[in-house]
Amino acid sequence: MSLATYNTKRDFKQTSEPTGKKSDSKEEALAFVVQRHKASHLHYDFRLEMDGVLKSWAVPKGPSLNPQDKRLAMMVEDHPYDYKDFSGVIPEGNYGAGIVEIWDSGTYTSLEDKGNAKEDEKLLKAGLEGGSLKFVLKGKKLKGEFALVRLKGSDSNSWLLIKHNDSFAVHEDYNSEENTPKNSPINKWLAVNKPEDKQAKKKL
Ligand code: MN
Repeated sequence: MSLATYNTKRDFKQTSEPTGKKSDSKEEALAFVVQRHKASHLHYDFRLEMDGVLKSWAVPKGPSLNPQDKRLAMMVEDHPYDYKDFSGVIPEGNYGAGIVEIWDSGTYTSLEDKGNAKEDEKLLKAGLEGGSLKFVLKGKKLKGEFALVRLKGSDSNSWLLIKHNDSFAVHEDYNSEENTPKNSPINKWLAVNKPEDKQAKKKL
């Protein structure tokens, strides 16, 4: 996948999202980001740097640190490397219109951790092609070993995001929504626009 799909879907005169240029990271380590995105539905976007772009999955329920959770992750178009720093408002009428905020970010390696981003990328790309991608996240919220496993079947864009059972795993219920600051831009928006609140107000 190239960035052509990303660019086709967006009007850069209207949205402040970065234009889709392929650019190799200047950093020693590979980057990852999880964005929380209030579009037509609230969801999370999970992105891993690979080959100068961000491989991207939409995760409706958000990531979990509980190894028993298998979170559906729909693979979407590659996003440009610079998207890892994007947060803000995508204006109405545009693709993905709504609010994007960064929920977690950091660096990652392959499960084998070759100590070298280029060597890691080779393993990660093989994993991606084979439908079983294993990696170690070094984020603020997400830490330790994870896997993305492609579901077999007609829709090859469906993957599962699973936490491995390591010292960073949690064994109680994990809800990414509860690990989001109350004053985040999306939460502020939801506080005003929540449909349940409007109904509750009508009853008063
Ligand atoms: Mn999204």
